[in-house]
Amino acid sequence: MKKLLLIATGGTIASRHTDTGLSPQIPVSELLAYVPEAKSFCEADCVQPFSLDSTNVHSEHWLKLSMLIEENYEKYDGFVICHGTDTMAYTAAALSYLIRNSRKPVVITGSQRPIDLSITDARSNLLDSLRFASDDRAHDVVIVFGGLAIAGTRAKKERTRSYNAFSSINFPPIAVLHDERVVFYIDDKEKVKGDAVFAHSMNPKVFLYKLIPGSDGSILELIADKYDAVIIESFGVGGIPQYGDDRFHTAVRKWIESGRLVVMSTQVTFEGSDMSAYQVGHVMKNTYRLPESYDMTPEAAIAKSMWILGQTKDKEQFEKLFYTPVNHDLLFEP
Ligand code: ASP
Repeated sequence: MKKLLLIATGGTIASRHTDTGLSPQIPVSELLAYVPEAKSFCEADCVQPFSLDSTNVHSEHWLKLSMLIEENYEKYDGFVICHGTDTMAYTAAALSYLIRNSRKPVVITGSQRPIDLSITDARSNLLDSLRFASDDRAHDVVIVFGGLAIAGTRAKKERTRSYNAFSSINFPPIAVLHDERVVFYIDDKEKVKGDAVFAHSMNPKVFLYKLIPGSDGSILELIADKYDAVIIESFGVGGIPQYGDDRFHTAVRKWIESGRLVVMSTQVTFEGSDMSAYQVGHVMKNTYRLPESYDMTPEAAIAKSMWILGQTKDKEQFEKLFYTPVNHDLLFEP
C-alpha cells in the first residue's frame, strides 16, 4: 500500500458556486472522500497550505509547495497536489525546477468542474492522480489530467472548458490512464540516480513581452527598473523587428548593457524557436548571444529563468543552466 500526501491548494476542483462566482471552499479531507476507490491502493494524508483560485498563485506559493514536499519527502512515497487549472502549467514547470531528480512522483491535478457536481471530471482526475502517484514507475513532476500524464515542463492549458484541457507540447505524454491501467510511453525511472535536489529561491522579476506587429521596443526602457530579465515572445521561429529605425535593437542593447537578460521565445505553440534561421533573428542572436527557448514551452522558459535568476545573474551561467535539460523540458541541443 503506497503512502501519499494529498496537498490541496484550491482551484475549480475544490470550488462551490457563490453569489460572485465559483470560489474554492471544499476542504481537502472532503476531496478525498469523493474517491473512496483509492483506498484499495493507497493511504493518503491531507494538508491544505492555501486555498486560492490559481489566478492568485505565484512564485511564493511555488516555494511554499516545494518546501512542504521537502519537509515531508521521507515520510511519503509520492505527492498529489490539487490545483486550479489556469496557472497549473506554470506551477508544474516551477516545481520541476524547484524539485529535481526526484524518484518520488509529484503529481499535479485539478478539474474543469467542481468535485461536488454530479457530472464532473474532478473525480476521475483525482483518482487517476492518486493511481499514477502510487505507480512504481512514476517519478518527478507530472500533471495528470484528462487521462494523460504530462511532464511538468511540457504542459499547456489549451482549452478553457473541455475536459481535455491540457496538451503535452513538443514532447509525448509520459503515460495515458485508462480506467485502472497506467500505460507508460516514457518509462525512464532508472535514469534518476542519487538524491532529490530542492531549490529554495526564485527570482520573480521576469517579464514576458509578447510582440504584436508594430510593437514599440522602447517599452523595455520603461520597465527596466522592475525586471532582471525579459522573455520576448516573438513571431514564428524568432526575430526582433526593425521598423525602419533601430529603436527596438537599441532598446535590447541598452537592456543587455545594464546587466539584464533577454531571452527569445516564440508565440507559436508547436516546434519551437530557431533565431538563426532568418536575418531578423540571426543578426541579433549573434550580436548579443541571446539565449532562446527552442522547444521549451513559454511556461517552462519563464519558470526556468526565475529559478536560474534565483541563483545567479551571470550571463554565462544563465545560459549554461538554461540549456541544461530538466524534467524533459528541452530536446534541442544548442
Ligand atoms: N480559475 C480556476 C483556477 O485556476 C480555474 C480552474 O481551476 O479550472 O483556480
